[in-house]
Amino acid sequence: MLNYFDKALLSQIPEQLLKVPYLVEEKTGISLKIQDMDELFAGSAPGFSRALAVLDINCDEQAITLWVAPGIKLAAHMISHELIHLRRNILEGVPKIFPRTNIEEAYMTESYFLENELEHLFIIPEEISLFPEAEAWWAEHYRQQIEKVRTEQVSIAHHWRTIRIALPKQTELIQACAAIIRDYDSRPTERLANEFYHSIAGAMPNKHEMILELIDMFPREIVFTIGVGRFTCKPNGNGIGQEFIALGEHLPRPARFAHML
Ligand SMILES: [Zn+2]
Repeated sequence: MLNYFDKALLSQIPEQLLKVPYLVEEKTGISLKIQDMDELFAGSAPGFSRALAVLDINCDEQAITLWVAPGIKLAAHMISHELIHLRRNILEGVPKIFPRTNIEEAYMTESYFLENELEHLFIIPEEISLFPEAEAWWAEHYRQQIEKVRTEQVSIAHHWRTIRIALPKQTELIQACAAIIRDYDSRPTERLANEFYHSIAGAMPNKHEMILELIDMFPREIVFTIGVGRFTCKPNGNGIGQEFIALGEHLPRPARFAHML
């Protein structure tokens, strides 16, 4: 499983995370595969092919794969980040936003983005507590993200919330994001950004409540594209499934791509 990575790198990762794939295998019978992203992967998941790493939990194929961008050497904090995603998804069965069946690709990508951003509110602080150097890495990551989406007001509002909760010491970054929001010269954007922050921060650490708060603020056309559920482990190590815990009147398609780094 983890022998894709060299031993010196793995020795930097805490024991409690290194054992996650083995606990997952014990519980589900599924062995974590780690593979370089290939053309087949890029074709099946165009929205994800530019990520450094993608954790792909596929109930249809009963497979769990960590796809790594070719030529990229993941640092110990990044591997740990993926292992925390895996632990939360499979061992802890945390509630998740899933895309529904037969929706447009853009909506699917959006629902994965929303879920990923909510998970990062937990995972980035845990990662930084284990690897202090990860804080600068994530600050740079979000600095680039807010530049990329500076004209997209809703995306900026999501990033504003993530940065304030997950990287509270990054005051320069927080101010840069606030300045973009002010530049819109639009009170609705500022109000939306503050609502995203206060409602989600207030519901933490209850992930189900966080999702419901987020859904409350969505336009209806987005609500109709998602479901809420969690991954489940079948008895006696017989694979993984999904159960739906809210908004389940239409079955979402089995979720893949639980996460992009
Ligand atoms: Zn992540």
